[in-house]
Amino acid sequence: MKAVNMKIAIGAGHSPNCRGASGNGYDEHDEAVKCVNYFISLCNKHNVTVYNCFDASSNASTNLVNQVAKANAHNVDLAIQWHFNSFVLPTSNGTEVYYYKGSEAGAKYARLAQDAIFKSLTTKSRGIKTNSLYWTTNTNAPAILIETCFISNKKNMEKYSKYWKKMVQDVFTALTGIEAGSTYIKWTGSKFVNDTGTEVKVDPFILSE
Ligand SMILES: [Zn+2]
Repeated sequence: MKAVNMKIAIGAGHSPNCRGASGNGYDEHDEAVKCVNYFISLCNKHNVTVYNCFDASSNASTNLVNQVAKANAHNVDLAIQWHFNSFVLPTSNGTEVYYYKGSEAGAKYARLAQDAIFKSLTTKSRGIKTNSLYWTTNTNAPAILIETCFISNKKNMEKYSKYWKKMVQDVFTALTGIEAGSTYIKWTGSKFVNDTGTEVKVDPFILSE
């Protein structure tokens, strides 16, 4: 995996002016923004190039088109859109991640994200799925759409509120191969140093093309 050189586009599902689902005192878009912003801060800390696909459109279709356009404006290795699931039956629960049917890379990233999320949240795994979602169909890069857990399920959201930070760290690590808690590493031209300027030995696996 091209961890250090990896480029990612990521966006929170929906928009502040065209919101997704809500339930149990949570708003889907607000929670997605929280997860995405934390993911972006981890990318910045660990020198992973990241583009935010946030869009404030008040129309759902325009929001989708604009977010895809933002992802496609860059040559990225992976495009992520972050959501929460919802259903009329409050007992529906669990984690699922979507990818574009036939995309091997998409399936690989979906599996990595799915495993990281349901394990850290201790939610039921609903598996990885394919569907003709606008995001996974229209992004140029391998794409995944995360359905973290059900906002309409009380127990899911209790787990999410308890473990969300660890969950985002685990997703970051699973997708990039970089330990979220590890020190920031920078190439000086002759050696790798951490944020205090101390030389660090880097695993060649992480650096390989
Ligand atoms: Zn959504």
